[in-house]
Amino acid sequence: MKAALLSRHGGNEVLSVGSLPDPVPGPGEVRVRVLAAALNRLDLFVRNGIPGVPIEFPHVPGADACGRVEALGAGVTGFAVGERVVLQPGLSCGSCEFCRAGETCLCVDFEILGEHRSGTLAERVVVPAANVWKAPAHLTNEEAAAFPLAAMTAWRMLVTRAAVRPGESVLVHGIGGGVSTYALQIARLSGASLVIVTSGSDEKLERALKLGADVALDYRSVDVGRKVRELTGKRGVDVVVDSVGAATWRASLTAAAKKGRVVTCGATSGPNPEEEIRIIFWKQLSILGSTMGTDAEFRALRDAVEKRRVLPVVDEVFVLDDVRAAYARLESGKGFGKVVVRIP
Ligand SMILES: [Zn+2]
Repeated sequence: MKAALLSRHGGNEVLSVGSLPDPVPGPGEVRVRVLAAALNRLDLFVRNGIPGVPIEFPHVPGADACGRVEALGAGVTGFAVGERVVLQPGLSCGSCEFCRAGETCLCVDFEILGEHRSGTLAERVVVPAANVWKAPAHLTNEEAAAFPLAAMTAWRMLVTRAAVRPGESVLVHGIGGGVSTYALQIARLSGASLVIVTSGSDEKLERALKLGADVALDYRSVDVGRKVRELTGKRGVDVVVDSVGAATWRASLTAAAKKGRVVTCGATSGPNPEEEIRIIFWKQLSILGSTMGTDAEFRALRDAVEKRRVLPVVDEVFVLDDVRAAYARLESGKGFGKVVVRIP
């Protein structure tokens, strides 16, 4: 099969398109013919090399996919060959204390497709049957590939971890990124009465307003923390969604209301912000970590997508041969929504 391959860690020069033997599904596994795969920040981290996560080369990256079921391993039922599916990219053991409690994304042996095992930027991928879900029928292959990882991450952050309630206010940093684009929609869906987003791009701020944001702040020209306090009568917002890290953390703490919740799923600008501990205890903030999502959360998200209450946002579509250009587009930070790779 044709596949995107990492030959080692590094920049885009380590990425090529080559050939690998077709994977064979073992017991309980499904082989999917991938039609479209979406990129995530994770793919950049995997390419660059993640400390403590050794990978074998050549490595097929990619966590998100829409495709058709092509072959079933022994014991797999409930799927028809040819059925169009999407993949839940988190793999869990099913038997540890967290899996038994339904907290599959806290699994002690948690793996992500394309990070710990061969991913979706290939004509074929083999995954456990538990990770295979019917694709919402109204979506194109590209749209269906564009929601699983990022929207599931946003779902857990807002619905489960921060537990946004109707009438609350939410700040989402860095609109245009995959997670933040879905976080905006899920904040709306949760009944938030005020959703504020930030960006350093006029075009992204405009698109965010069309996607449902109430206020779009340009972080190049305003002090986001101070401006959010001003917009809320010095109260601050109930929930801050921060996937940016070092560059936004101080603004997150400033923007949060007393007893507010700051939820983080990443640190694209760096992991070590200057922490203002006094703000945390004085305002009695809750700092919530979150990553990926559980099967139950994925089910709820998929239902919301099916009902068109969460809309996949596709930035640009590339073909597999142009996978380097797709990575470059993601890395440029210029996109709004998900970069998708079509696999004809
Ligand atoms: Zn487990």
